[in-house]
Amino acid sequence: MAGKSRSGCEALKVVARCRPMSRKEEAAGYERVLELDVKLGQVSIRNPRAAPGELPKTFTFDAVYDASSKQADLYDETVRPLIDSVLQGFNGTIFAYGQTGTGKTYTMQGAWAEPEKRGIIPISFEHIFTHISRSQNQQYLVRASYLEIYQEEIRDLLAKDQSKKLELKENPETGVYIKDLSSFVTKNVKEIEHVMNLGSQTRSVGSTNMNEHSSRSHAIFLITIECSETGPDGEEHIRVGKLNLVDLAGSERQSKMGAHGERPKEASKINLSLSALGNVISALVDGKSTHIPYRDSKLTRLLQDSLGGNAKTIMVATLGPASHSYDESLSTLRFANRAKNIKNKPRVNEDPKDTLLREFQEEIVRLKAQLEKRGMLGKKRRRSSRRKKAVDGESATENEGEDDNEDGLEKNMENYLKEQKERLEEEKAAIQDDHSLVSEEKQKLLQEKEKMIEDLRKEQEATELLATKYKAMESKLLIGGRTIVDHTNEQQKMLELKRQEIAEQKRREREMQQEMLLRDEETMELRETYTSLQQEVEIKTKKLKKVRA
Ligand code: ADP
Ligand code: MG
Repeated sequence: MAGKSRSGCEALKVVARCRPMSRKEEAAGYERVLELDVKLGQVSIRNPRAAPGELPKTFTFDAVYDASSKQADLYDETVRPLIDSVLQGFNGTIFAYGQTGTGKTYTMQGAWAEPEKRGIIPISFEHIFTHISRSQNQQYLVRASYLEIYQEEIRDLLAKDQSKKLELKENPETGVYIKDLSSFVTKNVKEIEHVMNLGSQTRSVGSTNMNEHSSRSHAIFLITIECSETGPDGEEHIRVGKLNLVDLAGSERQSKMGAHGERPKEASKINLSLSALGNVISALVDGKSTHIPYRDSKLTRLLQDSLGGNAKTIMVATLGPASHSYDESLSTLRFANRAKNIKNKPRVNEDPKDTLLREFQEEIVRLKAQLEKRGMLGKKRRRSSRRKKAVDGESATENEGEDDNEDGLEKNMENYLKEQKERLEEEKAAIQDDHSLVSEEKQKLLQEKEKMIEDLRKEQEATELLATKYKAMESKLLIGGRTIVDHTNEQQKMLELKRQEIAEQKRREREMQQEMLLRDEETMELRETYTSLQQEVEIKTKKLKKVRA
């Protein structure tokens, strides 16, 4: 991205989303206390117990999404630019914050079966792999982890052994990480969806009441995207983007004793991470704190970079429209309003130590060399290039040639070993037929040949194993148009582009409106001071006249 600034200070993006009135709320006849101005990006909340004449409170955000908003609206306008940044090597985090039942899980995950209702996580899968399939001269490695924080314990939702408690560790170079957290390399949307479903299953299996459990635990889906590309300096560079997709515990106040009779100590742990999050945000924005209490909870330690550090962060504050949730909605709005003032310092993570992509590349080179030594790769290449010339010299691209090479690997090896075995069998037969040999000598020679055949078989097995490993590893490195292919047609692409343009335009219009509003307010303030100054002058002039008189 030449010419574009690669780092700098930027504020946390905060958007608010209000779900529709539920059937229950409608049936109970609750009033609506929230009004959203989508064009201006404002939410107004009216106190149902307000004295007559009391005005509603208004909050301004980067964007607001009302009950009629679509999942795709939120994604295209707010999320897409962040995922694009992660694909460039920035860290990114998206939080859903709000009271239980306001749409955090709907926003992050959505309804799986209905394409229209898919949330941020599944849409981002499509986005990421489509981007990679259209990339050129880049290699990608994508992996996913899924974890949960419940009562200040970290659970690896992808691990076989669920009883194991994971520890947070700190690395001076890369920051805080979870030791022994499983991660799966995924080659396409299907594979990463599978990882997500696996974790979601584990999550629900471990709890007797999923609703209650999810309202008290934080779920984090983590995607790491590594990308290698040759830079203008001719050297290969690796960029690493980490994406945290966070469905937080319900923000409602928990009673001190715990709703279900936990001992106070356990109850106090339930939302420790959430209250620590609030404290961290307060400390970050009050401008006086020298100490930010990241270490007070697992959540804040883990997401330290996302709050005031090296990441681009979005908070989606979710709200219910009805009067009975007035207090919680107001507290969510205040929380979100404070978070707006957090400043992050995102930068592209270039050439960090210990990338998995580098490890894979080195392993592939090593395996390739071993296969070449066994005569598996070199031989084939000569043959395929010969064939290429013979069939259609011009049109065969380099890529196709190399693909052929991989596909033919096994066949090539089979042929080679078959030839060898046939030769040995022939030699064996010749020994058997040779009447000039005494039987003892014959036996010895035959045994020797048997052993050679056995060795050959072993060698074949080892080579097969090597070839399988080589192919598996190479398929995990994603190369646009080769190991991953874009299946969208031109029409779909045009539509996508149009949608993105509209989203961008809406965003710009709102920014302009907000700026105008701000300027109006400033002008008003100026005018006010002006009139009061003028009044002062008038009063003083009068006084002066009096004194003179
Ligand atoms: P949370 O995770 O915050 O507890 P959920 O995501 O489970 O809340 O949402 C509660 C209910 O409201 C669900 O039935 C969900 O389908 C519905 N819901 C939430 N947000 C929306 C929305 N924007 N549009 C339609 N239905 C929604
Ligand atoms: Mg939920």
